[in-house]
Amino acid sequence: MIRISQPLITDREREAVLAVLDSGHLAQGEKVAELEAAWARLCGVRHAVAVSSGTAALHLALLAHGVEPGHEVITTPFSFVATANAILLAGAIPVFVDIEPDTFNIDATRIEAAITPKTRAILPVHLYGQPCDMGALTRIAGAHNLALIEDCAQAVGAEYEGWPVGSFGTGCFSLYATKNIMAGEGGIITTDNSAIADRLRLLRNQGQRERYQYECTGYNYRLTDLQAALALAQLEGLTYVTRRRQGNAAYLSEHISRPGIITPIVREGRTHAWHQYTVRFDGPEWHARSRRQAAIVALEAAGIEARVYYPKPLPWEPHLQGRCRAGNDTHAVDAAYSALSLPVHPGLNDDDLARIAREVNRL
Ligand SMILES: *Cc1c(COP(=O)(O)O)cnc(C)c1O
Repeated sequence: MIRISQPLITDREREAVLAVLDSGHLAQGEKVAELEAAWARLCGVRHAVAVSSGTAALHLALLAHGVEPGHEVITTPFSFVATANAILLAGAIPVFVDIEPDTFNIDATRIEAAITPKTRAILPVHLYGQPCDMGALTRIAGAHNLALIEDCAQAVGAEYEGWPVGSFGTGCFSLYATKNIMAGEGGIITTDNSAIADRLRLLRNQGQRERYQYECTGYNYRLTDLQAALALAQLEGLTYVTRRRQGNAAYLSEHISRPGIITPIVREGRTHAWHQYTVRFDGPEWHARSRRQAAIVALEAAGIEARVYYPKPLPWEPHLQGRCRAGNDTHAVDAAYSALSLPVHPGLNDDDLARIAREVNRL
C-alpha cells in the first residue's frame, strides 16, 4: 500500500534519540534550546519557542497577543479543526473568511469587510504547504493594528517572495508525526518580538520565570528533549525532504491528465512545501462528490491511499455552532466536496509515482 504519509526515519534520528536516553535528561533542556536556535535561524527571526503541539503553539500565540474572551479572530473555514479550536480555547470567536478556489488559502481581498472593533488577530493557514498572500495580509494587519498569526503547521520550508513562512507574523508550526518535519508530537512558535517570546516562555511553563515564582496562570505545554533531538535530526534533512516533495509534485502534475481532475497550482513568487498534493474534481457538487468517492475506492483497490482533507468546512462542525461567525463560504464548501489528496511524501520511489499517475488517469 502506498500510504498518504510515512515518517522518514534514518540512523541520524535513531542515534539522536538514543543519545538523549543515555544522557539521563529527558524533559525540556539543552536539546530543546538547540532546536529553538535552529528553528529561529531557519525562519530568520530572533526567537523560537518550542511547545508540546501545533495546537498549543496556536493557543499560546493568541494568548501572548492579548486575545481574550469576546475578541474576534479572522481565519479560514477550510483547515484542520485545531486552527478553530485554538481560537475557542482562547475564549475568542472565529470569524471565517472564504478561501481562493485554486490555492485553498484564505482570500485576502475579503478580509477587510470582516473586521469589526472586536477583531484582534488574523490567523491565515498556509494550507497543504503553499504560503498565503502574505503581502496583502501584512498590509491589512498593519493598517488595522491586528496581530498576524500564521498557521505554518503544513508549510515548514515554504517561502513567499524569498521569505520563509513564520517570518511575517508570529509563526506556529507542528511537529506531529505526519508533518514534513516531525517529532511524533510537538510545536514551535516563531517571533521577532522579545516581549511576545517572553510571554510565550512563561505561559508554556506554569507562568514560571524563576523556580516557584509564578507571574501568571500558565500551562504545561513543554516539549521534551527526546522530541527535540528527533526534530533536530529531521531538520537536517529539510532541504532534501522539501526537494523530494517538490519533485514528486512536479512529476504528478506533469503526468496526471484526466479530464475532470484539476491538478494543484503554485502562485508566482511562492515556493510550496507540498505537505499535501491535492487535486480537485470539477463539476456540480453531486457529480464531483460521487466521482471523488469512486476514486478513493478505485485507488485503494490499486494499493494507493488517497484522503480527503477536509470533508467539511469548519463553520459546519457541531461544536462551532453559535460560537463562530461565518459569511459566504462558497469556495470552502466546494473544496470540501471536491478536494482529494494523493501521496507526495519523500518515501515514494519512481514506480510509486508512475503508479499513482497511471491509476488516476485510469479513473
Ligand atoms: C496539524 C495541524 C495543526 C495542529 O498541530 P498539532 O501538532 O496536531 O496540534 C494545526 N493546523 C493545521 C493546519 C494542521 O495541519
